[in-house]
Amino acid sequence: AWARVKRRLRAELGEDVFASWFARLELQDVEGGTARLTVPTRFLKSWLESHYLDRVLNTFKAEVAEIARIEVGVRGTGAPVRPVAPSPAKASPTSGPLARLHAAAPPVPVSASAASEMRGGDTAGDLNGAPLDGRLTFASFVLGRSNALAHAAAERVARHDGEGALYNPLYFHAGVGLGKTHLLHGIGHVARDAGRRVIYLTADRFMYGFVNALKTQNALAYKERLRGIDLLILDDVQFIQGKSIQAEFGHTVNALIDAGRQVVVASDRPPTELEALDERVRSRLAGGLVVEIGSLDEQLRVSILSARLAQVRAAHPGFEVSQAVTAYVARAITANGRDLEGAVNRLLAHATLTGTAVTMETAETAIRDLVKNREPKRIKIEDIQKLVASRYNVSRSDILSERRTAAVVKPRQIAMYLSKVLTLRSLPEIGRRFGGRDHTTVLHAVRKIEKLIGEDAILGDEVELLKRMLQD
Ligand code: ADP
Ligand code: MG
Repeated sequence: AWARVKRRLRAELGEDVFASWFARLELQDVEGGTARLTVPTRFLKSWLESHYLDRVLNTFKAEVAEIARIEVGVRGTGAPVRPVAPSPAKASPTSGPLARLHAAAPPVPVSASAASEMRGGDTAGDLNGAPLDGRLTFASFVLGRSNALAHAAAERVARHDGEGALYNPLYFHAGVGLGKTHLLHGIGHVARDAGRRVIYLTADRFMYGFVNALKTQNALAYKERLRGIDLLILDDVQFIQGKSIQAEFGHTVNALIDAGRQVVVASDRPPTELEALDERVRSRLAGGLVVEIGSLDEQLRVSILSARLAQVRAAHPGFEVSQAVTAYVARAITANGRDLEGAVNRLLAHATLTGTAVTMETAETAIRDLVKNREPKRIKIEDIQKLVASRYNVSRSDILSERRTAAVVKPRQIAMYLSKVLTLRSLPEIGRRFGGRDHTTVLHAVRKIEKLIGEDAILGDEVELLKRMLQD
């Protein structure tokens, strides 16, 4: 039924609007007449809620008569889906335990960007872009081995005051929570303080700008203004979707670079792997300086954690966290900066609510969910190859070999696909681990299997089963 709801929405709203706002909408569950949907960003959530909630509800109702309510949550934040309140005032809890937890969280002023997102993204289309978060500066960015190069490039671009642009575009890529957005905001602050015309946009806001401009027939003016700036900062470009929006994105980037204006981009993957984008746009994005931010090593985690704890302590003098506990948390939480920040908030909430000092034991309880949920098992490519080989009655060396018989090609492609989906390895790295193949071969395999899964339910189940077997 959900697939039909999506199909209806696509037919009713058109390809571009659908791709921009609904392609990443997923059904979580249905319970007692409430359909819980999820999206990957807060912006998308507030945008859908303020513009399309009735539409989605009515479309859903037309398919499943029992549906009476829609709730939209944000995936991957660990936060439960919260009901959509009829009035904005109720959206943030003002009483009850949740409010207390909120109150116990560090009294950092709600960042301007978060505030505008909570208002429903109403300012998103205005060409000042999204506001910069005052906390995300170079001064608060902790340096380590994995981000030193990215930081150096960011500083240079931000402080550049000569003619033209330095590295154009400057392109950061890294997994979630490794500091991309932090660096982008850092650049934005410095450049803006120096009097340069800066626009910071997330992919969502970029798409919103165009969809909106097209609707109000202002597209030309919008483009003109976008091209009249000194520095365009685009976050999470992997989310850019929709044919004409991709094209506009390409034109905008080209026009700015050709005019010697600086473009800075961040994504969760390298430009070559932005599969939704046109080949020419991808190579343009790869044509400047591409810098990967690596995972946080333990030392860097300790530094980030200590810096964050010091900030919080400045506002909560009684809040003491020993070095041992800091070391424990930094060791337990390996995933990313976002979880480290989450850990600090939990420690503080715990200390404030119970009025007791943070011990090793309370720390363990407070961060338990972060440790468990956020650390998926590390799956090895070798294990994938072994499992897939045994399921298909071939040997692992067949998979690594040059043989091209169907009996070997299919398992090989499935194994490549699973390696891409289940590990953090890049396509070139996966190619190397499959007998020294080229990354385009891997990409081809991934696309092929993705397509087959969509067409062939039996193969889909088979691959799903392999995934589960590898995951537990
Ligand atoms: P990304 O955009 O890569 O997903 P963010 O920039 O949003 O990650 O970082 C997630 C959180 O971790 C933010 O609160 C950020 O301030 C913090 N963080 C990440 N890296 C660092 C760092 N090197 N120094 C200080 N804070 C960091
Ligand atoms: Mg980010």
